[in-house]
Amino acid sequence: MMERKQRLETLRDELVERIDRYRDHKEQRAGPLDKDMEEQAIELQNDEVVDALEREAEDELRQVMHALARIDGGEGELCEVCEEPIAGERLEALPFATLCRDCAEPR
Ligand SMILES: [Zn+2]
Repeated sequence: MMERKQRLETLRDELVERIDRYRDHKEQRAGPLDKDMEEQAIELQNDEVVDALEREAEDELRQVMHALARIDGGEGELCEVCEEPIAGERLEALPFATLCRDCAEPR
């Protein structure tokens, strides 16, 4: 339980750092447009990749924060939907999971 919280806190710090780096990268890119068309096209593609990575990291961060809040509330190991305990191996693989496998993958 404590261990999971520590893993989540580490993950949170990593994600915050990663999002910072993505933002820095984009700010640095906002320089003068003295490059040729091909370079500009490549950079535009890179920006799209960085945008997608940033969104992904933000989503994950949101989940991590949510899971941490539930742990602090004493219900970190319970499924948000059915309130059954989440399997230990699932929390091991996905420390930010807040749904049991059945609720996360409805049939
Ligand atoms: Zn459930």
